[in-house]
Amino acid sequence: ADHAPKTTPPPADGSCPGRVAIVTGAGRGLGAEYARRLARAGAAVVVNDLGVGLDGANDGTAPADEVVAEIRAAGGRAIASGHDVSSWKEAGQLVGLAVDTFGDLDVLVNNAGVLRDRTITRMTEAEWDSVIQVHLKGTFATTHHAANHWRERHREHPGRAGRLINTTSVSGLFGNAGQANYSAAKAGIAAMTITASLELGRYGVTANCVSPGAATRMTAALGGDPDDPSRSPGFPAAVVEWLASDRSDGVTGRVFLTSGKRVSVAEGWEHG
Ligand code: ADP
Repeated sequence: ADHAPKTTPPPADGSCPGRVAIVTGAGRGLGAEYARRLARAGAAVVVNDLGVGLDGANDGTAPADEVVAEIRAAGGRAIASGHDVSSWKEAGQLVGLAVDTFGDLDVLVNNAGVLRDRTITRMTEAEWDSVIQVHLKGTFATTHHAANHWRERHREHPGRAGRLINTTSVSGLFGNAGQANYSAAKAGIAAMTITASLELGRYGVTANCVSPGAATRMTAALGGDPDDPSRSPGFPAAVVEWLASDRSDGVTGRVFLTSGKRVSVAEGWEHG
């Protein structure tokens, strides 16, 4: 028994065998849950978080290295990235890291974010800019670079599917007092994702949004019962895994609300 393997590798019949995924903002919280979940499903995961290697200077952000270590200890494949997604150049380097390390990119999950809540009358320019930069520009920057990879790849491997999974919020769909910056960024992400579904379908790419209702730091401002199982990080993570897998083939341009007791598609956010 001393020589028994201490870890169980991901099942070969997982939902995402051989896929390569990037999860941004995955050093903790929901992003970390997405990364662990995709790794368990058989994907090789680039765990991105700006907190990597900055120990102490990053307002308490857990480094991506810890999540990578957990995934590897469980027999999965992962590598850490400290790229800043709000930098056009670094977003490109992040996509390059996935391709260089694991040979391809199949799934991009945009989850990185910051919160700078303040009412409109008190919000500073810096608070507006930082939230728009990380959420809206960051999501577009990684999407742009991934889309170019998928466009190139489609020429040689038209059968391979790309998966763009972005994060929106009930703030972005319905607004939320104190979150003009965040709600504007999240509304922008939802609309941009639908645009991506219209533009990238020809390259075999689906593009969808998840609106997590999970009780994380990011969603704590929205209130609700933290003991409600539908608010556990596993609930949106299951939707992300499904969207990353070939089980969601053909599903594109949708916004999946995981708030409440069930997963629903946001009305009015569908094309046609
Ligand atoms: P949640 O728990 O809802 O996922 P968090 O705020 O805990 O929300 O997680 C968001 C993550 O995004 C944090 O770990 C943070 O370090 C990361 N992050 C913030 N800005 C950037 C950025 N520009 N590039 C990459 N990661 C970022």
